[in-house]
Amino acid sequence: MNGSATPTLSGWGRSPVVPGHEVRSEDLARVTVGHPLSRGLGRSYGDSSLPAPGDAEVVSSTLADRILSFDPQTGDIRAEAGLSLRDLYRVFLPQGFFTPVTPGTQYVTLGGMVAADIHGKNHHREGCFGAHVTSLTLRVADGRVLTCSPTVERDLFRATLGGMGLTGHILEVGFRLARVPSPWIYGESERISDIDQFIHGLKEAGPRWPMTVGWIDCTSGGKRLGRGTLFKGRWAEPSEAPAHPPRPKGRFSVPFNLPPFAMGRLSVKLMNPVLYWRHLRRHQRGIVHPETYFYPLDALRNWNRIYGKRGMTQHQCVLPESAGRGAARRFLEVLVAHGGASFLCVIKDCGPEGLGLLSFPKPGISIALDIAVRDDTQELIDALNEQVIKEGGRIYLTKDAFTRPEHFRAMEPRLDEWLAIRRKWDPEGKLRSAQSVRLFGDKP
Ligand SMILES: Cc1cc2nc3c(=O)[nH]c(=O)nc-3n(C[C@H](O)[C@H](O)[C@H](O)COP(=O)(O)OP(=O)(O)OC[C@H]3O[C@@H](n4cnc5c(N)ncnc54)[C@H](O)[C@@H]3O)c2cc1C
Repeated sequence: MNGSATPTLSGWGRSPVVPGHEVRSEDLARVTVGHPLSRGLGRSYGDSSLPAPGDAEVVSSTLADRILSFDPQTGDIRAEAGLSLRDLYRVFLPQGFFTPVTPGTQYVTLGGMVAADIHGKNHHREGCFGAHVTSLTLRVADGRVLTCSPTVERDLFRATLGGMGLTGHILEVGFRLARVPSPWIYGESERISDIDQFIHGLKEAGPRWPMTVGWIDCTSGGKRLGRGTLFKGRWAEPSEAPAHPPRPKGRFSVPFNLPPFAMGRLSVKLMNPVLYWRHLRRHQRGIVHPETYFYPLDALRNWNRIYGKRGMTQHQCVLPESAGRGAARRFLEVLVAHGGASFLCVIKDCGPEGLGLLSFPKPGISIALDIAVRDDTQELIDALNEQVIKEGGRIYLTKDAFTRPEHFRAMEPRLDEWLAIRRKWDPEGKLRSAQSVRLFGDKP
């Protein structure tokens, strides 16, 4: 919300900012009645958690965060949709359990993890979060509360994983926690000199390492295009981990919006080589705190303010294996040719497609670019999307605020099947968001 009379809402990218406010209650089943959308902690970057034009309210699940059951023999857990990953991890990591899949921030809710069908650094091994979900309790558009799972109301289950909250309000999530040998991570990192070596390094590391991710400097062109650092990790064995448990990490805060030049093209261009050469030794290895490993950006509260008042967007795409290993280079060349400057560019290895009908990953390479919003952002996203379409890839809805409907349709052959299931469960089109109006032609 801003200080003006009209309350406003935005996603993590703070673009767009729309009129609207959250309604909250510990009784999620009651408060969702008659509402068109739920949201969690608002960590989706774009407009997926925002009300459609004309809808004043969105349900916030964050007060509904109880753990309902847990079986220490199997790791099976059932909890309310507003439970955050941070709270979950505080309770269960000391007991030797962790979520099988985590995104790059712990400030997300279970409902948000399901609705985006999030993936982590281990997608090549574990798939999306949805692969570990055993059942969901949903309030669907006609007001009924239903349970769905991979075997019960399977079409609803599949459409809800990655369905961006458009098939119903998720009230409860059942899933299986993974056992970990210690609460620490053993990690290795390596400086990489260009994008082709990067793809090679990621694909080579995949069979040996459960978790891999890379940071790339995408401001340098030519021979240095896509140089960066490749990080590989696994849970540490008790014999190599420190005897004490990891202490919760402190957080610094960005107190106000930084001026536009802070993330301007020039500063991004100057900062990227500094980040690259910070990794002075070509190879590094050792024990890493789990929060440092999984959630490095969480150390800086409100880091999205660095991008100033106009905010930022993230363009995340997957370039499929069928496009060949040169696809990532061609994609970065489009970025550089359009003068696109991204301070944070993250590359990941994606494994097989999961159950979710609109889930993002498929076998290939995912590239995520944080981009400050400027007058030419739409033009840049259009150019990147046209390249993604040429390569047979697709974008990630939870990050998006700029993709055109015709571009999304061209990327997503599964769209009609998903729309048909959505229509079956919501024939009157009661459930909607700012994103569904923009991308799927829902009536505001
Ligand atoms: C720093 C950072 C790193 C990230 N890293 C990753 C990553 O590595 N991998 C990845 O996959 N994602 C990543 N994300 C994205 C994030 O995991 C997703 O956007 C996630 O959905 C956010 O959860 P949330 O609780 O904040 O949901 P919100 O942002 O509030 O909502 C996201 C979507 O979920 C829907 N939704 C939320 N709760 C419910 C509910 N109870 N019922 C129905 N629909 C609901 C909303 O309508 C909306 O469509 C990252 C985000 C940030 C800020």
